[in-house]
Parts: sequence; C-alpha cells; structure tokens
Amino acid sequence: MNKKRMPVIFSGHGSPMIALADNEITHEMKRIGRELAETYGKPKAILAISGHWYVDGTYVQNAARPEQIYDMYGFPKELYEVKYPAVGSPDLTRAVQTALGSSVSVNDSWGIDHGTWTVLVHMFPEADIPVVQLSVNRRLSGAESFELGRKLYGLRDEGYLILGSGNVVHNLMLVDWDNGGGTAAAVRFNDFITDAVISGRKEAVVQYGMHPDAGYAVPTPDHFLPLLYCLGAAGDDDAAAFNKVCNLGSMAMTGYVWGF
Ligand code: ZN
Repeated sequence: MNKKRMPVIFSGHGSPMIALADNEITHEMKRIGRELAETYGKPKAILAISGHWYVDGTYVQNAARPEQIYDMYGFPKELYEVKYPAVGSPDLTRAVQTALGSSVSVNDSWGIDHGTWTVLVHMFPEADIPVVQLSVNRRLSGAESFELGRKLYGLRDEGYLILGSGNVVHNLMLVDWDNGGGTAAAVRFNDFITDAVISGRKEAVVQYGMHPDAGYAVPTPDHFLPLLYCLGAAGDDDAAAFNKVCNLGSMAMTGYVWGF
C-alpha cells in the first residue's frame, strides 16, 4: 500500500562514529528507512536539514552531484572512507524555491555533511535517493524556524521526504565519553521535549528556551533547530519517537517521525 503524503523524520546523530556503528540505534534507523519505503514507496528525493550547515541565511543546494563532506576532525581514518554518493535533485531544489520564495537562495558552497550522511548510511544505505540540503539559518528565531518548516509541508505531497538531523540534547563541551547514558539534566530535557512533540504541544517545543535545563541541553541552537523545521513541516500529523536514549552524558539521540 502506498500512502500519498511522505512522513517527516527528525533523527539524532550525535558522534559521527554512529556511521560505523552497528547497534540498537542504527538498527532503528535502518528499520525506519525500510518501513518508510515499504509503506510510502521510495521518496522521490530527500530534503536534508542538518545542524552542521548552520549559516547566516536560508540556502538550498542545486548541485547535480553534491560533494560529500567530512566536516569533522580527529576521528579514525575509516570514518573518512565512508561513502554516500547520492546525487542532487534539481526538481526538489526548484520545489523548495517555490515553497520559500525569495527567502531562499541557491548555494553550493557546502555539500552533504556528516549530520546527513551518518544517518543516511543507515536509513537509506543504497544511496539511490537524491539528496538536497537546506541550511539552518542562524538568523531565525525558534518561532521563525518553525514557520519556515510549515512552508515545506506541501513538498511531502510531491513525494519528497523531509529529514532533519541534529540532537535534542547536544552539549559538546560537557560530553563524557565514558557515560553510556545521560546526565539528569539531559534526561529531563529529552523527556520534556519528547512529551511535548508526542502530545502535539508544539508551542512548548518552539519555546524550548523557557525550560530550566535549556541552557545545558541547547547551549547553541544549531542541533535543535532542525527539529523545529521538521515540526513545522509535520503539520497536524501524529508523532512517534524512536531511539529515545541519551548517551555521552550530554547528548540525546532521540528521533521523531510524523505522519508515519
Ligand atoms: Zn552534529
């Protein structure tokens, strides 16, 4: 059965080493990609919104063959050998331009970054679906990011998958490589955001900064804002969580699917 409107996915990515992992988290990523393709058919293309393309503007890629970029440092050599050779999609680029109008411009100075490919190697391992990245605009507030996401809603009816990649809790300064779980603050914030997403309390997610643990969980908005783009694009669709776990102390790997 092919349902018409594509779901929206937000995935945690955390350490880039997730690309090489084979564990419960990556198995969930694989399951979601597989079940999505089975239920909705393969997406025509993926609009990826990664917290690692966090820039002063709203940009969309238009390269026929976007470069895969290794925008992380100091990891084992084998991580830099992971290939995800997805092509671009001029049709999706145009559809984004139609949806966002003059607020978006084409920019191919970036590429498919590790926020995107470390998730896609698990979710859609064959790399046979075109990928276009949309930047995360650091000039936008949370509410404005959510509003931008709302304008992307219609892309789903055209067979495009919107995939945000970031982390609900992401405090690199306080990462504890020996902590397999999360600190109390990480767990509290992750629980709060997840409850709000699942129960459709979008305002609470958009106003995440009001939460007492927000300063700890979201010291910079880059990895959180992709969630707000997705939340906007989700419309009134029901949400479910996956990989609701914290790791490295100050990281949450929680993901959400809407309309799935
Ligand atoms: Zn990251």
